[in-house]
Amino acid sequence: MHNHYDPTNEDDLMQPALEAARIGALLRNYYIGAALFSSNGELIATAYGAGITAGEIFHAETQLAILLRSGRSAGIFSQDERYIMTTTLQPCPQCRQICIQQQKLSVLYGASTPTSGANLGDLLETYTNTEKLRISENSGEQVVREAQLSKATRDQCIQGHKQYRTKVLKSANEVSAELMPFTDLLELVRPTNPTIIPKIRIYQANVRARLEQPHPFQQNNDTKIP
Ligand SMILES: [Zn+2]
Repeated sequence: MHNHYDPTNEDDLMQPALEAARIGALLRNYYIGAALFSSNGELIATAYGAGITAGEIFHAETQLAILLRSGRSAGIFSQDERYIMTTTLQPCPQCRQICIQQQKLSVLYGASTPTSGANLGDLLETYTNTEKLRISENSGEQVVREAQLSKATRDQCIQGHKQYRTKVLKSANEVSAELMPFTDLLELVRPTNPTIIPKIRIYQANVRARLEQPHPFQQNNDTKIP
C-alpha cells in the first residue's frame, strides 16, 4: 500500500481505513478501521477497532488519537499542523470526545450509525466548550463530520460493518472470555514508519524518570514517595 494520498480526496483517504477494518474483522472484531494522515496526505498509521479482542478502550479512533497526542509530545509530529483521521464508522461518544480534545485534528467518517450512541454523542457534545473552541480554531468548520465519498466507498463502510456485526455479536461472549491482556493503546497501532513507536517509548521513559523525581517544591516537605 502506498503512503501518499491526496488530502483533498476523501475517498482516497478512506481506503487505508477500510483495509484496517478488514484486518480487524478477520481478527474477530467489528469491521471498523481508522487511518491518520498528515495535512499533506502522508499516511502515518492505521488501527482497527479491537474492542472485542483487546478490550473496550481499543477503539480505532482512540488508538490513533493517542498516537497523535504522544507523538506530538515526543516532538515527532507537529503541534501546528492539522492532521486528518478517517474512520469507516461514525465515532462513538468516547472516541469523538478524545479526538476533539486533540488540537488540530479533523475526523471524517464513512458510515453513520444509529448504534453505539454516536448520534447521541453528537447531540450532547456539540455544545461542550472544548468542541466550540476546536470549531472556532478550524474557521467555524466541524472537526468531526461525514466524509465526502463515492457510492462504492460509502457502501463498503456501511455494508462491511453490517456484514460482520451479527457474526461479532454472536461470538462476542466467547471471544471476551479470552481478551488479550493489553492496556497500552499504542500496542496495536500500525505505523507506516517503524521508528515512530520506539521514539515515543524513549520519550515516555524520559518523562517517567523525570516525573518520578520529587518536585522541587515538595523537597522541603516531609512528603515521601512510597
Ligand atoms: Zn469508539
